[in-house]
Amino acid sequence: MRKGLFFSIALVAAMMMSLSTAQARTKFVTIGTGGITGVYYPTGGAIAKMVNKKKKEYGIRATVESTGGSVFNINAVMNGDLEFGIAQSDRQYQAVHGLAEWKDKGPQKDLRAVFSIHPESVTLVAAVDSGVKKIQDLKGKKVNIGNPGSGQRQNAIDALEAVGIDINKDIQAESIKASEAASLLQDGRIDAFFYTVGHPSGAIKEATSGARKVRIADVAGPGIDKLLAKYPYYAKAIIPHKLYPGAKNDKDVQTFGVKATLVTSAKVPDDVVYAITKEVFDNFDAFKKLHPAYGTLTKEKMLQGLSAPIHPGALKYYKEVGLMK
Ligand code: GLU
Repeated sequence: MRKGLFFSIALVAAMMMSLSTAQARTKFVTIGTGGITGVYYPTGGAIAKMVNKKKKEYGIRATVESTGGSVFNINAVMNGDLEFGIAQSDRQYQAVHGLAEWKDKGPQKDLRAVFSIHPESVTLVAAVDSGVKKIQDLKGKKVNIGNPGSGQRQNAIDALEAVGIDINKDIQAESIKASEAASLLQDGRIDAFFYTVGHPSGAIKEATSGARKVRIADVAGPGIDKLLAKYPYYAKAIIPHKLYPGAKNDKDVQTFGVKATLVTSAKVPDDVVYAITKEVFDNFDAFKKLHPAYGTLTKEKMLQGLSAPIHPGALKYYKEVGLMK
């Protein structure tokens, strides 16, 4: 009896010790995403899900945070508030080269790329009653160009400038988060909004399924062609109108786009970045099923659109499987 008690106490003690060492070893990492109706938020969830399945093996517990978007995420990764962030490929390029929001801070030397994910397009959603069918029609309108910290804000500014529209004089520009834009449009408080996002997305579904009829307007023309020729990170894109049956569109929308990418810092340990990369790539088919915006994804495409140096943890995996030399 005594012996039995002793053994069970010893067993419980041993279990508690192993539990606490496992806990001590657990590395908590947070992935910065975007608004919950965008594609970054479920994408962060998809990545976290893949690596958390192997918590016992890696001792990593990944969580997701809803944020203001690309620029916020890059800055939070750089100052150590987040280990990972999802950011547009154009924003990654600008951060690495010290452009746009990073003009004063200079090049973000510790920024590292992990992989790219789905394509995103500059999406201009406008109320039908505003008469806006294309970006050139936005003069005199109330337009949400996006919150500071979002990826879309600079895309909207670039596109408007490219067609000769001054955001300070020619439109009434709002700086609201994309997650709030759909309801503002439905309530008649804005005429249109920009969102750089993958498709289909909850935000554009929400915006196109209300009582106020809306259309996705073209962002194209000679001015836009010049813009694409000038910046290597922008490319022509279309938004298939079939994805949003509620929108007043009967043709695919002409616009331009970028890619969503996963970024981290040189300071994040190799084993953590390796684990995340390995789990997403080794379980690529399962990952791809987690969001319809990943429709055209291939492993090779996930190595395109990266302008920051690839993190050594990710590089180790790409070399192991022959995706890189
Ligand atoms: N592209 C947007 C941004 O960088 C976010 C899109 C999303 O959350 O899916 O702010």
